[in-house]
Amino acid sequence: MDTPDSAPTFENAQTYNFKAETRQLLNILIHSLYKDKEVFLRELLSNASDALNRLRFELLTNPNVLDSTTDLSIRIETRKDEKKLIIKDNGIGMNRDEIIENLGTIAQSGARKFLEAAKAGNGNFTQVIGQFGVGFYSVFMVAEWVKVSSRSFRADDQAITWFATGEDQYQLSASDKQDRGTVIEIKLKDDCQEFAEPYRVKEIIRKHSDYIGFPILLDDEPTQVNKQTAIWRMSKQDVTGEQYTDYYRQLTLDFEDPLLHIHSVTDAPVQFYSLLFVPGKSDRGVFSLRKDDGLKLYTRNILIDEYSKDLLPEYLRFIQGVVDSEDLPLNVSRETIQATGIMARLKKALTGQVLKEFENLAKTDSETYQKFWHEFGSFIKQGIATSQPDIEKLSELLRFKTNLKKDELTSLDDYLSRKEADQKEIFYIIGEDANSVLRSPHLDYYNTKGIEVLLMTDPMDSFMLMGLHQFKGFDLKNIAVEESQSGEKSQDESREKSETDSDDSSELIATFKRILGDRVSDVRSTSRLSQSVARLVEPEGGLNPETQRVYKYLGKEFEENKKILELNLNHPILQDLKILDPTSPLYNMVVEQIFDSALLVEGLHPDPSRMVQRVEEIIQKALRNKS
Ligand code: ADP
Repeated sequence: MDTPDSAPTFENAQTYNFKAETRQLLNILIHSLYKDKEVFLRELLSNASDALNRLRFELLTNPNVLDSTTDLSIRIETRKDEKKLIIKDNGIGMNRDEIIENLGTIAQSGARKFLEAAKAGNGNFTQVIGQFGVGFYSVFMVAEWVKVSSRSFRADDQAITWFATGEDQYQLSASDKQDRGTVIEIKLKDDCQEFAEPYRVKEIIRKHSDYIGFPILLDDEPTQVNKQTAIWRMSKQDVTGEQYTDYYRQLTLDFEDPLLHIHSVTDAPVQFYSLLFVPGKSDRGVFSLRKDDGLKLYTRNILIDEYSKDLLPEYLRFIQGVVDSEDLPLNVSRETIQATGIMARLKKALTGQVLKEFENLAKTDSETYQKFWHEFGSFIKQGIATSQPDIEKLSELLRFKTNLKKDELTSLDDYLSRKEADQKEIFYIIGEDANSVLRSPHLDYYNTKGIEVLLMTDPMDSFMLMGLHQFKGFDLKNIAVEESQSGEKSQDESREKSETDSDDSSELIATFKRILGDRVSDVRSTSRLSQSVARLVEPEGGLNPETQRVYKYLGKEFEENKKILELNLNHPILQDLKILDPTSPLYNMVVEQIFDSALLVEGLHPDPSRMVQRVEEIIQKALRNKS
């Protein structure tokens, strides 16, 4: 192996090859010109802290840990004359197999992702290198060579030394290290001598690693450099926005800033610290670190669950963050924790906090709230469908476009504040998208009367409606469903209609019925339409349209209700149709087309292109008559 002059030589060393991906990765890092090389120190300190955390965890149950009584800490030595920086921890340590596994074969998927990020030219990516599971290698941005000596907490394991220059190979040899833990000796590149300056090292620690949960001691200085308090245990006043964002990045590998952080200390009914984040985007992105949903759960500073799913309801799974409770028993299996009932109390309290914060955001910062709604609105709707106890709070968070306010978002409270005094219901319409739903014939009546209707065009709306039937005492009503016969409007209007329905109208309706047969459950006239010729309404009492939609999304088989075709007898097309011979082919075509068009606007047409031929025939006839 071709090592620089100053590199140590080992007797009986064995040489190993790095995997291809590791070599590429090292190659990038060695030649990197990144300004933020200092992050290597954060990565090594974070590894040291992990190692100490794991040791502390081990101490809970294992009486045979080597050096079990020593204080846990991280020590840093600067040796300016030798151009070296040394980092020691008395954490869990590694034996030979572990060092090969951990420093020889990196998590391949992580390396690949990191390489992709590097190639994509994301200048910031060294900021988050740790999240790819390759943080250790960032040391090669500053190192000419690196020597790692480690001794495992298992008293019988041999100490081992790992050595690499960042070339294609690394060496292993026996080490005479006596005490538990890991020492990382870094020979700094000539242009990286700043990292052997104590002031600089301190600066980096305070910037990136201040809240590492163990004392970091530098050279012979009597006081530790870092504050040591975990960020979530610090008082809000002492944490800067940048520190929150920094922590969030560490946690999630999200390049975007979080939309919101929720930091709190709670004393009753359970004691806990929490620091939660709402990400900027609902989509975790390709480089996501968090492989799973869930919050980090600590008890008394010890990480006991990396992905705890028991702390928040499923619909809030987009929340990232940390919960740390003094009240959780230390002797920790998931089952025992659950059995204590503390988890349930934590979950209730956390859910309450989060929903309260959303409510505040909606009140105080509508711009951010809109972003939030855009990204996470569907989750809130899912919550309404699935989380009965939260419905009341969640429904306050809902936002919709409406027929009267097409370009803004309306809350249910806004809706109620604008409605007519005698209006007893909250109207909504379901459709595929805002544009097509706005053309729906069902809206004719409401548009004419200036009555507001919520536009529900998100697939999740149908699920939501399964849980949401009322808001503040007002029933939600789908305007595509038949008016109940006792409703005041339908009474007077339909009576009035039937009186005015002349013979030719009855004949028209009868012909529609004959032609459409059992494709509709009824054909009748309506005064509800002004612009449109016809519409299809859901008969009352059938499977409601929301449920039908949900079944459709879920691919579940169900019998679709036969709809009622309602005709606008005042419409010129129908007026003209009345004078046409009901047995003529054109009559038949027009009826079929009216029915097809009604299916189409409802988003129910099974095969729209089937209409083309008929439409062309109708055009032909129209042209012929004109000529
Ligand atoms: P990550 O820490 O994300 O897993 P790294 O490349 O930084 O990725 O480290 C790889 C592995 O090496 C760690 O998961 C850990 O098992 C081991 N390791 C690194 N530093 C230490 C240390 N100081 N003490 C014990 N083990 C360590």
